[in-house]
Amino acid sequence: MRKLIAYSLCFVLTGCASLATQMKTQLDIHPMALQTELVNGISPNQFRQAEQADELILSEYTIVTTDRLYSRVYPLVLQLIEVSHNPTMTPVVRILEDESLNAFVTGGAFIYVNTGLIQESESDDILAGVLAHELAHLNAGHNPRSQRRSLWTNLAALVAGRVAQSDSAKEVINTVRALAEPAYSREHEREADVLGVIYAHRAGFNSSALASFFIKTAQYEKEMQLKAEQALKESYYAAQDICRRSGTTSEKCKKYSQAYTEKKQRYESMELARSPLFRSHPIDSERIELIHSLHAYLNNEGPIPQNPTAQKVLSVLDFLESDKPVLKEAIKLHNEGYLDQAERLYLDVLKTDPTQSQAAFNLGDLYANKGWIQAAIENYEYGLKYEDRSDIRIKIDELYKKLRSPSHNIR
Ligand SMILES: [Zn+2]
Repeated sequence: MRKLIAYSLCFVLTGCASLATQMKTQLDIHPMALQTELVNGISPNQFRQAEQADELILSEYTIVTTDRLYSRVYPLVLQLIEVSHNPTMTPVVRILEDESLNAFVTGGAFIYVNTGLIQESESDDILAGVLAHELAHLNAGHNPRSQRRSLWTNLAALVAGRVAQSDSAKEVINTVRALAEPAYSREHEREADVLGVIYAHRAGFNSSALASFFIKTAQYEKEMQLKAEQALKESYYAAQDICRRSGTTSEKCKKYSQAYTEKKQRYESMELARSPLFRSHPIDSERIELIHSLHAYLNNEGPIPQNPTAQKVLSVLDFLESDKPVLKEAIKLHNEGYLDQAERLYLDVLKTDPTQSQAAFNLGDLYANKGWIQAAIENYEYGLKYEDRSDIRIKIDELYKKLRSPSHNIR
């Protein structure tokens, strides 16, 4: 089990997407998703599933209860929750006996931290940075791509004992692995980075520590890769040597060759090596840059980050923390699918205060979803007069591209 998850980490599961893909991701995400999730918190259904997941995780891991480790982690979690968007949450924090660097959440209020991560985090700033990032995934309601409906169905069957004994052990390992290695979309990772940095900052931690952790993790993964390559090489030469001395048909030669083949297969399936995306992107410079620029901005040492996700999250938080009842009502209706009523309220907001850029941006989203591209562009451009947002400029570029595409029906 340990090997299976040894080199996984939710943080390293994203690579550098091309600019075109990034732009597409921006548009594919429902514009209001973050807003809604931050307000709604964890659903009872998510919590039930997380309880089942917890049962399975407990069957695979040894839980560490030593005061020294627990008393380091738990207060950090509480400090972060207090400044988060779900301050009344009462989380279950589990420390898992595992030397790999990992921390993950399961969708309910369950937070898991490996002993390896605690030991490797030289300062509480680093540990708080990782925990804040995980808490952000929880609060923002991010569903990992690796945890589709089938996983939860499997999980329920396993917990209820409805899986044949012979398949059970393998199923448990696969399911726990999917839980401990959640693969979030690139955009959700960015959101969690931004929100996590903000939580860590608000709780009084050095919010740039997360960047140091990324760099450290990258080095760790690289060392693991080198070790695995070395072991593979040694196994190859050992097999060659044995076969030369005892003959290629000897039992010994067969045994050593078999061992080498197995090692190679494991290496190739990435169980011994770094996570696939990290292999091709040793250090994700975009993420590190994002954290550094946001840290500088929050400490009044730099301008607002150019990163579109950072601007989107900051504007969502601004809105959530402001007192704008009509706009809030409009967004609620928008989220619930009452588009005509939402549209009317957005227009009301703009009539009362023409500088309410958020209303114009949301109106743009609403028209874009309806396919009214010209109207969407006009509203986005109107909002930009009062608030410069790079995420909105990306949306406009995408819409112009759509307008120019031959398949588009102009409305
Ligand atoms: Zn993450």
